[in-house]
Amino acid sequence: MTIQVLKPKYHVEECLEQIRECLEIGWTGLGFKTVEFEDKWKEYTGHEQAHFLNSATVGLHLAVEILKKENGWENGDEVITTPITFVSTNHAILYEKLVPRFADVDEYLCLEPEDVKRKINEKTRAIIFVGYGGRVGKLDEIIKICKDHNLKLILDAAHMSGTRVNGIMPGTWDGVDVTVYSFQAVKNLPTADSGMICFKDKHYDEVCRKLTWLGINKDTYARNSGTKGSYKWKYDVEYLGYKDHGNSIMAAIGLVELQYLDETNAYRRELAKCYDGIFAKEPKIQVIGAPYADECSYHIYEIAVDNRDGLLEFLQKHDIYAGVHYRDNTEYEMYAYDHGKCPNAHVMSNKILTVPLHMHLTKDDVEMIANKVVEFVNAC
Ligand SMILES: *Cc1c(COP(=O)(O)O)cnc(C)c1O
Repeated sequence: MTIQVLKPKYHVEECLEQIRECLEIGWTGLGFKTVEFEDKWKEYTGHEQAHFLNSATVGLHLAVEILKKENGWENGDEVITTPITFVSTNHAILYEKLVPRFADVDEYLCLEPEDVKRKINEKTRAIIFVGYGGRVGKLDEIIKICKDHNLKLILDAAHMSGTRVNGIMPGTWDGVDVTVYSFQAVKNLPTADSGMICFKDKHYDEVCRKLTWLGINKDTYARNSGTKGSYKWKYDVEYLGYKDHGNSIMAAIGLVELQYLDETNAYRRELAKCYDGIFAKEPKIQVIGAPYADECSYHIYEIAVDNRDGLLEFLQKHDIYAGVHYRDNTEYEMYAYDHGKCPNAHVMSNKILTVPLHMHLTKDDVEMIANKVVEFVNAC
């Protein structure tokens, strides 16, 4: 049996039942389950606004676009971001002709507040903070920096579904302008592909809902036509929008998996503790910690070792497929202008390895994987 680094586990029968409902009534698109999922998500998280999308990537783009449009940012303005993330985070800034300005990461592989301060200049408009692996990092300090410098704050919460701090979802904290979640297939709340955008500001949410459906203003036909049904085509188009909204099939899966999110995250934490217990005794293995670890979603579990590539190969020989999250983005051609500006990210990028952590694994599996890791690093 091969062991994958990330693998979704769906509650198949319940998902099929919800999907069947969509197919039988003939409503698989926007509305119906998407509205129900948005309502359940707001209830679960405490966000006041939630709009269901076809991915977190489009959500991050919408977050940047709407903040830019509504606050009069200009092309060439800067957004401070992290090099240790999936490229979606940074592409979102480039889509809007803004400049990603990279700041270094801390011991949690989240943005490091002191370096963020150093990267602020007169063109800085916002910060994107990635809750790496579900970790909240030093988000509280980043919020303070944003307030002090009048910057907007976007939270890339692609890994943070279900992460709490003292019972509260960090995305709902005062000072976070918009939070984007991912429900992509290998995330800890898996659908197949979808995401959620949660604006603090109700007006931004309204603009977003137009943008995610081609810029169409659905209110206009209701307002202008008097009679309903037959005038549905008589809407106005206000923006050059996109086809970014989510659909009822994805929402159907999300509705089922959301019911199990706290339970599955708790199991992830148990597996993480198993790894912690074994790795803590090994001086050659550095575990990437998590603040508020007993409330972290633990979307991914990382260690840092000297011979990372060797370890990856060794594990693969034993049918264990570990991963790397992520390569320092300034090593990519398109972000190379900031190469060398984030020394810790650069070092960690060559040392980090994501060990398998998902709902198909038992504690025995985790012990076996951890022992293989220990075997390799001590033979080096
Ligand atoms: C997965 C991921 C995204 C993109 O999510 P999609 O739903 O696949 O578009 C963005 N940011 C981070 C940190 C991610 O891990």
